[in-house]
Amino acid sequence: MALQLSPGEQKTLYRIRPRGFCAGVVRAIEIVKLALDIYGPPIYVLHEIVHNQYVVEGLRQRGAVFVETLEEVPSGARLIFSAHGVSPKVRQQAAARQLKVIDATCPLVTKVHLEAMKFARQGYSILLIGDRDHAEVEGTAGEAPEATQLVSNVTEAEQVAVPEPSRVVFLTQTTLSQYDTREIVARLRTRFPALREPPAEDICYATQNRQKAVESVAQRVELVLVVGSKSSANSNRLVEVAQRAGVRALLIEDAAAIDPHWLADVNRVGLTAGASAPEVLVEQVSARLQQLGFTQVEEVELIPEDVRFALPAELTRVTRRFSVHVFLALAALGLLAVAWFVWLSLTRP
Ligand code: SF4
Repeated sequence: MALQLSPGEQKTLYRIRPRGFCAGVVRAIEIVKLALDIYGPPIYVLHEIVHNQYVVEGLRQRGAVFVETLEEVPSGARLIFSAHGVSPKVRQQAAARQLKVIDATCPLVTKVHLEAMKFARQGYSILLIGDRDHAEVEGTAGEAPEATQLVSNVTEAEQVAVPEPSRVVFLTQTTLSQYDTREIVARLRTRFPALREPPAEDICYATQNRQKAVESVAQRVELVLVVGSKSSANSNRLVEVAQRAGVRALLIEDAAAIDPHWLADVNRVGLTAGASAPEVLVEQVSARLQQLGFTQVEEVELIPEDVRFALPAELTRVTRRFSVHVFLALAALGLLAVAWFVWLSLTRP
């Protein structure tokens, strides 16, 4: 049923913040762009650098080549690992093919890898809560394959067996919903009372912030639109969080995906975007919604965010060298120009 408008109120679009790009995605895209600028195309990228078609296509047009296996990369070429991270086995294969690797793994994913290595060294069984077949989960599980088992739902939490129930820890994929994870962890805890948890929350700040923001706006709207790709775990989780809060929610790739019929009885829409969806797509969706009658637009900022991650050391070093070379080349050109003017003024009759 439509939420009634107060007298004088127009159909309203709530643009929810934080939304869209997280620090890990910003860093990963920056790494590919810098690599293309410095080394020139082709730059190979293992898997989609982030799960968004618009971003991937934009980088492809600039010369990035996205591959699914290392065999597709010519020996000795330059290869970027995506924000989702890779297993040590993939790193070894890349080294064997003498690929020049630049690692765009998000530092928060690396943190989970380090936890997996530490607990495996200490003899723990690791229960990794995450989506089967997700690139991040494959990478994390690959750090300690003998010690790790994947748990993707409550049923699996009920069935999983470990050799030593007193030495068991759970880790999670960074982009899960806290609600689902809580349910799985609760089930695991009843089965393994000594279950240890990661030293710090594995679900990352960006995932949590976007979910909390959607949850609080869901109470005021009849429909939540999430801009993101189907392959984006955190975008799908935003849809689920809104649905769990009792509101209709839909995942859309872009403005063209909006069906005006969805909005027939709707007076208030919430709009957000997954961590891999660029702001330009949100702007296009906003413009389309305004065309469809949502002329009152409110920016609702619930949690301020100012996280930034440093670029990989090898790239900052090269960038600095690159900038010095550009500076020296410009300085040399400037000197040549001055010399030319001096020569002209001296040789003029
Ligand atoms: Fe990193 Fe979180 Fe962004 Fe994934 S969603 S890239 S873990 S900041």
